[in-house]
Amino acid sequence: MLDTLRRIVQEVNNAADIPSALNLMAKRVRDAMGTEVCSIYLRHEEEQRYVLMASEGLKQEAVGHVSLGLSEGLVGQVGLREEPVNLEDAFSHPKFHYLAETGEDPFHAFLGVPVMHHGKVLGVMVVQQRDVRRFDQSEEAFLVTISAQLSAVIAHAHASGVLFDQLDTGDGLLPSFYDGLPGCPGAAIGYGVLLFPAADLSAVPDRQVEDVSAEIARLDDALVRVRQEVRDLAERASKSLGTEEQALFDVYLRMLDRHALPAEVIVHIREGQWAQGALRTVVDAHVRNFEMMDDPYLRERAADVRDLGRRVLAQLQSQNRRHIVFPDDCILLGEDISAPMLMEVPRERIRGIVTTRGSRNSHMAIVARAMGIPTVVGAQNLPLKKMDDKEIIVDGFRGRVVANASPELKEQFEEIIAEEANLQAGLEKLRDEPAETLDGVRIPLQVNTGLMTDINRSIERGAEGVGLYRTEIPFMVRDRFPSEEEQRVIYREQLAAFAPHPVTMRTLDIGGDKSLSYFPIEEENPFLGWRGIRVTLDHPEIFMVQVRAMLKASDGLDNLRIMLPMVTSVIEAEEAQHLIHRAWLEVRDEGLDIAMPQVGVMIEVPAAVYQARALAQRVDFLSIGTNDLTQYLLAVDRNNRQVASLYNSYHPAVLHAILHVVEQAHEEGVPVSVCGEMAGEVGSALLLMAMGVNALSMNASNLLKVKAAVRQVKASFTRQLLNEVLAMDNGEVIAAYVDLQLDKAGLGELLRNRKALV
Ligand code: PEP
Ligand code: MG
Repeated sequence: MLDTLRRIVQEVNNAADIPSALNLMAKRVRDAMGTEVCSIYLRHEEEQRYVLMASEGLKQEAVGHVSLGLSEGLVGQVGLREEPVNLEDAFSHPKFHYLAETGEDPFHAFLGVPVMHHGKVLGVMVVQQRDVRRFDQSEEAFLVTISAQLSAVIAHAHASGVLFDQLDTGDGLLPSFYDGLPGCPGAAIGYGVLLFPAADLSAVPDRQVEDVSAEIARLDDALVRVRQEVRDLAERASKSLGTEEQALFDVYLRMLDRHALPAEVIVHIREGQWAQGALRTVVDAHVRNFEMMDDPYLRERAADVRDLGRRVLAQLQSQNRRHIVFPDDCILLGEDISAPMLMEVPRERIRGIVTTRGSRNSHMAIVARAMGIPTVVGAQNLPLKKMDDKEIIVDGFRGRVVANASPELKEQFEEIIAEEANLQAGLEKLRDEPAETLDGVRIPLQVNTGLMTDINRSIERGAEGVGLYRTEIPFMVRDRFPSEEEQRVIYREQLAAFAPHPVTMRTLDIGGDKSLSYFPIEEENPFLGWRGIRVTLDHPEIFMVQVRAMLKASDGLDNLRIMLPMVTSVIEAEEAQHLIHRAWLEVRDEGLDIAMPQVGVMIEVPAAVYQARALAQRVDFLSIGTNDLTQYLLAVDRNNRQVASLYNSYHPAVLHAILHVVEQAHEEGVPVSVCGEMAGEVGSALLLMAMGVNALSMNASNLLKVKAAVRQVKASFTRQLLNEVLAMDNGEVIAAYVDLQLDKAGLGELLRNRKALV
């Protein structure tokens, strides 16, 4: 049975389009169960009906036309009860609703199961048979299992709305919503421009050649042109990105080096393959390897290789690349958009970006955030090809794309975009003002950085230093570990830009959802595996080089603070401190008179919450990483859409854990900052301030909003709010209550990051 199930799921997943997937599903399920009918009804949200969308055994004319109300007939019963209905004779059931058009007269036995996705009924799968008999337990279990397995396909059909297109009466399409993940906050309206590759590698056939040298020469020529193309893009990128991000292009150029990918292509050419075929073989092999990896970063690298392969192919085919005309308000669309593809479009025309694959940590998303372009990633159900040249709304706050928006909805978004622009313009005047409450309590607002581009945006917003510099980002945009000197130069730029304010440099935090293509970590359970300090303590050579580079970079500035990620026990902090001390002695021995920096640890693992006092006794500061702390306390993967609704930093467990850390550290006289997303969200930032947190560090885009909020309230108000929410036991209620109270206090317009927009 398991094999049959697997085969059906595979076949259905490979179907060309959704209607064929549904038809195939009905056919295969009917065959596998040996019944006479298998039908699929899908719930049509706007019509509030179940529509017959595929059937094997009922009259085909009925498909797409016959429908039942949500509580009508046996199908309605299955939907209402959210459980199987198994009847030996459907006709004798009081809820039976006869549908003449379907020709179901001869079928007595009925088994219907709900198709559930994320706790919602999307439709109903029904099998029917002539005989008066009850389907047995194993048949029922089979249908329940297959419906659960296939619910993703149906969810796709449902979300994309394509299935119901044929049912529309012509009075305009209904708005369709496609959920992904927020890649960069902000809202945008524009016209879809599908970035598709100029050349299709998968279509290249095998072909033999006689003249191997001529073929290699052709490849060399193409490579010269592609290298130039990449250099031109890098040049263009230098106008909108910092020098550091150019490393992305260096990675491309290195992959194009004659000793890298091309060397492998040449091996195949020498075996008699023509250049295009040899290229396809090599690129396919690399892409397959990368795609099979569990690690999201390495999977991202597949997109880079694919993109390069297409560029080389386009040159080999001597075709001019498709010349796309970019409208003034582009929403860039693609399965995967690589950072160089992004650079091909003039920045001033890009309103938003949407990808159907990719993650929040893809290179493109990192660059989009650095450029402040509203972005949604992983909107897997978006029918890309239908979106080219269509008006689209990107809701990067919530990670959602809207097509066919009604005039009212569009207007609502236009208002939001205008409000955001006004708000931002109004906030700019706060740049040099302190973050101080009406009753005189001050809190330093710092920024989280990673790319060089973040520096300008942070300084423009008046950041008082860096509370978290994610050093893994400059490591990620390369294809090998940066040398000590390379690191020193990068770190120096950060330290110099913010001096005399402190810059808190976190030692390499890889593992979990962040790893390096050149240092793969493959684990069953990466978030509970080799992460952060665990990796660097096992690799003191990497750690020491990094710390030495940080120390040398701080020469004469003395504003460096070093922070250790993912600390679980005091031994880790002690070992790391010991290594930092050794590195400090080494650089002093080299003649540099550098002050010993402050060293702190991140509190982001539940164990560290209960070790806060012991840790505080050993280090100079604590910084709470609420992103990981929330995910570990609630056991909710922060990147998993399936459980996204459970991820709530207002959960009482999270709030009480933070308060405990602050109290313990303060009793030891050690300051505590917060550098997770909570620090950049107005409501939680005010609660953290009320808890006595000493500094908040956030994404540059949120800084002025948080500052405006701090300046509009009294500290006594935030303390009262904190006391109220600490007495509550439900995270959802707390979040809603905080929003309500802040709205009442006149901070409504600053709350957008949390608010559901539609
Ligand atoms: C955190 O976990 O809250 C944090 C700031 O670190 P990162 O998001 O880089 O894991
Ligand atoms: Mg973290």
